[in-house]
Amino acid sequence: MVVTGDDHQRLGANAEHWVRWQNNRAFMRMSEGHCAALEIKPSANGLQFVCAIYEQRPQTCRDLARGSPQCHADWSTKADHAQPS
Ligand code: SF4
Repeated sequence: MVVTGDDHQRLGANAEHWVRWQNNRAFMRMSEGHCAALEIKPSANGLQFVCAIYEQRPQTCRDLARGSPQCHADWSTKADHAQPS
């Protein structure tokens, strides 16, 4: 997930915790095969996916409408790979 200058500014004091640099480009840090800000928790319906930085999330995430077909496809992919902690 690319992090633009505006995204980095929105992340505020926590930006360097969430961002990894590759040359001069910033990306969301990955953990266990997915964005490090993604919290995966067991729920009554299976797994619950929560963004730990929802209000500060990058613009690319904002552009993906919650519940859209693209979003559901992403959930399915993550559910296939994720294990609750
Ligand atoms: S919405 Fe949150 S958890 Fe999902 S990719 Fe964006 S920053 Fe990561």
